[in-house]
Parts: sequence; C-alpha cells; structure tokens
Amino acid sequence: MTTTERRSSVAIVGLGTMGCGIAVAALTHGIDVVLLDIDEAATAAGRDRLSRRLHRHVQAGLLPSSVLASLDGAVYVTSYDEIGDGVDFIIEAVPEDWTIKRGVLAALSASSSVRLATNTSSFPVDQLASSVTDPTRFIGVHFFNPAEWTPGVEVVNGAQTAEATTTTVIDLLRRMAKNPTVVRSSPGFLANRLQLALFSECMRVVDEGLATAEDVDRVVRSTFGFRLPAFGPFAVADMAGLDVYESILDTLADAFGERFAAPESLRSLVARGRHGLKTRAGFRDYTIGEVEELLAYRDSQYARIEAAINPDVLGEGTP
Ligand code: NAD
Repeated sequence: MTTTERRSSVAIVGLGTMGCGIAVAALTHGIDVVLLDIDEAATAAGRDRLSRRLHRHVQAGLLPSSVLASLDGAVYVTSYDEIGDGVDFIIEAVPEDWTIKRGVLAALSASSSVRLATNTSSFPVDQLASSVTDPTRFIGVHFFNPAEWTPGVEVVNGAQTAEATTTTVIDLLRRMAKNPTVVRSSPGFLANRLQLALFSECMRVVDEGLATAEDVDRVVRSTFGFRLPAFGPFAVADMAGLDVYESILDTLADAFGERFAAPESLRSLVARGRHGLKTRAGFRDYTIGEVEELLAYRDSQYARIEAAINPDVLGEGTP
C-alpha cells in the first residue's frame, strides 16, 4: 500500500473463531476494523480473544511485534447504527443458524447502505438475500479457519449480486493478501461440498472398522494430501491417468454403490483416448515440452514440500 492510498476499512460482526481470524487478517494488512458482537460483554470478550490471538502469533515469532500497535486502532461499537456508512464493507460472522443470520443481516442492511457480506459456510447466498434490503450489495465471503493463515476465500455471488459488489470484495481480499475464487450460490459452495464428501467417507471407513481415525489422518496427510499444496485434483488425475481413475471408480462402485459411479464426462474422455499426461491429452492438452516442464515442476514442488512439512507426515514422529 502506498502512503497516498486511502486505507480500507471493514466492519466485522461476530467476534468468535472466524470474526477474530478475519480481524487479524485485516489488521495485519493495514486495514482498519470496526468490531461488534451481540452485546457489550460479548464484544469485550471478543476484544480479549483478538488481543490474545495476535499476541500468541507474535510470541511464536509468526508475526512481527509491530502488528500489536494495530490493536489500538481497532474500533469497538455496541450497535449496528454506530457502524452506519463509516466503513467500506461489512462482514457478518455470526453463528451458522438461519434465524440468527437472517435477523443480523436484516438489521445490518437496514442500518447501513454499505456493501454487506456473509461468512456463511453452507447457506446459499440466494436464500439469505431475501433478508437484506438491497441484494445487489450482498455477497458471500467464505473465509477458512484460521482466517489469518488460510489464503483461499470463496466469493459467493448471489443471482442479484452487482458486479461492483464482487469487485469491491475481491479488492478488499487482495489487500488482505488472500487468493479469492468467485463461485455461484449453491449449498456448501465448492470447498465444503468437496471437503465434506471426503469427510463423510472418512467417517464411513472408521464406522466400518476398516481403520482408526488416526490411520485415516496419517494416510490422507502422507499420500494424496501431501500433493495438494502443489496440485489440485484435476492436475493430479491427468498425471495419474484418467483410464486408471475410471477403473478405480468401477471397482469402488461395484463394492460401495452409486456414490462412486464414474461420471459420464470421465468415461467420454477415456473413450476418446484422453488418458492424461501419458497421451498428452486429458482435462487439457499438453505439448511434449509442457509434459517435461510439468514433471520437473512436480518433482521440485514435492521435494520442497517434503523439506517443509512436519516430520510426522514422513513417519519420523512429531517433534
Ligand atoms: P462462533 O460461535 O465462534 O462465533 C460467532 C460469534 O457471533 C460469537 O462471538 C457470538 O457471540 C456472535 N453473535 C451471535 N449472535 C450475534 C448477533 N446477533 N450480533 C453480533 N454477534 C453475534 O462461530 P464461528 O465458528 O466464528 O462461525 C461464524 C460463521 O463463520 C458461521 O456462519 C460459520 O458457518 C462460518 N465459518 C466457520 C468456520 C469455522 O471453521 N469455524 C469456517 C468458515 C466459516
């Protein structure tokens, strides 16, 4: 940020796990915050939580001690009216409960004409939009816990969200050094639909007695989880071979049923000889040079990840 640039400001409503994390992300990137919880006592408790969180990061050497001064700049208010139009954006991070969310969003939008975001982790933004006075100024902004460290944020556009609302929130997130992805309103959006599909399968595996929770965690972290910082599922599938994936899905579908049925789109790719990197065509096309470049990148990334991660992942025990 240059010194001539105006400082951004955001109001955060609900100072629990997520609200405090979002506040830390804002404060550590020079964004002013106005903070509010359900009443004075809860706001004071939120203030203590936020202070402890920032001090903990500084003591651990994760943030420079200079960020502690930003706590003095945080403004605590006791009513929605006090937020008014004095900030660039309002983010609500109150509990995932329809009645609470609807009530808070209705009250906030009635007392301010500032653009408003919900940090809901699963409710479709289109359904929450009926609670606000101006759905064009309403959007979802799904941070992940802990919000100060997790780079990705889902920006959830409702059917009526105006483009200016989306660009304003993306600008704010970039100022927080976040990596936003715009998604459409749908239950669980992208990340939780995918994450929870994995999680429910993890629970089934344990419920069946196939493995312990500890075994599941170790296998996920040390196998396909190890690769995820470098590549997403589509890139990994192209490297593994789409024909291989189809065959694995057929085996799983025989054993466990429809939830593992290979999608028609995958069958079609395989039938057309698009087997991934080995045929230089899969989800995308590759030149010979691109294949070599990708494999070299993969190896360098995995070596770096191996060097950086907790030794426990490599089977060397927790330090
Ligand atoms: P939390 O229970 O830790 O915090 C919620 C806070 O909201 C509390 O401090 C509570 O006092 C306050 N609150 C309740 N009613 C209020 C009101 N009327 N006005 C102002 N404040 C009020 O919850 P959380 O885990 O921080 O979750 C908040 C939101 O973020 C939820 O929608 C949740 O789904 C979403 N989310 C949570 C996670 C997570 O991992 N916890 C991750 C992503 C998104």
